[in-house]
Parts: sequence; C-alpha cells; structure tokens
Amino acid sequence: DDRIARIGSAIRVIRDFPKPGIMFQDITTLLLDPQAFKDTIDLFVERYKDKEISVVAGIEARGFIFGPPIALAIGAKFVPMRKPNKLPGEVISEEYSLEYGTDKMEMHVGAVQAGERALVIDDLIATGGTLCAAIKLLERVGVDVVECACVIELLELKVMFQSQISIFVLGAGPA
Ligand code: 5GP
Repeated sequence: DDRIARIGSAIRVIRDFPKPGIMFQDITTLLLDPQAFKDTIDLFVERYKDKEISVVAGIEARGFIFGPPIALAIGAKFVPMRKPNKLPGEVISEEYSLEYGTDKMEMHVGAVQAGERALVIDDLIATGGTLCAAIKLLERVGVDVVECACVIELLELKVMFQSQISIFVLGAGPA
C-alpha cells in the first residue's frame, strides 16, 4: 500500500528529545499533511469498520488525535484513557512500569459496559507497557479488547508485550 510510505515520510524524527539519546518520533508533522493524516485514519477505518467495535479507547495524549476520527467513522464511542487526576468523575486506574519508575492510567467508571468490543489506539508502541495497562483496565470491567493499533513501532526497543491481544502497527516508522 503506497499510502504507508507517504505516512512514514511525513513523520519527523527529533534527536535528543525529551532527553539525550532519544530519537523522538514526532507525529505532529504527519498532522500537517492532510492527505497523509487522512490516509492514516482511512487505513485504520478499513481494518476496523466491519468488526462490530463499539468502543475506541484512545491513550493520552496522541491516542486522542487518532482515536476520535476512527471512532466517528466506524460508529463507535470514544473513551479517553488518561494520566492520573485528569478525569473529573469516578475512575478506575491501573499502574504500570516505565523505564524508570511507574505511571498510572485512568478511565471513567461507566464509560464502557461489560461485553462491549474495543479497539485501543495510540501513536506508538515501544515496550508495549502503555497498551498493556489500557488492555488491563478494559478487561477488568469485562470489555473484549479486539486489537490494539498504533502508527509507529519503535524497533530498537523490544516489545515486551504480555498479553494475548494482537497489536496492529501501520508500520510507518521512519527508516
Ligand atoms: P511503551 O509503553 O510502549 O514503552 O511506550 C509507548 C508510549 O510512549 C506511547 O504512549 C507513546 O506515545 C510514547 N512514546 C515513547 N516514545 C515516543 C516517541 O518517540 N514518539 C512518540 N510520538 N511517542 C513516544
């Protein structure tokens, strides 16, 4: 699919951000190219439109950019998975490990119902820890996670994904 190459070349790499040694994959330049941005959304929509998904769960912050247009196109609701103390209502939370230390992800109680079918979306997968926390949160309330989807996979970091859920990556990471 030649759309993938165009998406890949619209993603910018910023060296030493947010700290020395990190090659940050910056998707904001993809958003500046309306055709590449649309192609990104279309590729996900083509994959998920007939999968009876009623929930698109987007991970803060860049899952909030890709998730809503996919949700609207497939007729699903959008549920934000947020950093701690951001959601105003009652939440359930899941702690997960980072390279150094831990973080927490939160979701509103009542946003999803047991038995619903969900897609989890983020911009990038590195170790998979973030996606794993989202899967756990959804599964704890009885949601069936159909798949996780991202635009980019960081190949230099091995995915340590401890889940049975499959991950779909557009594969548009810069060479
Ligand atoms: P993981 O939990 O898989 O190790 O890390 C993935 C999370 O880190 C995602 O939420 C992703 O947005 C963020 N992340 C880590 N490195 C990068 C990067 O180089 N570019 C972008 N856009 N996000 C990153």
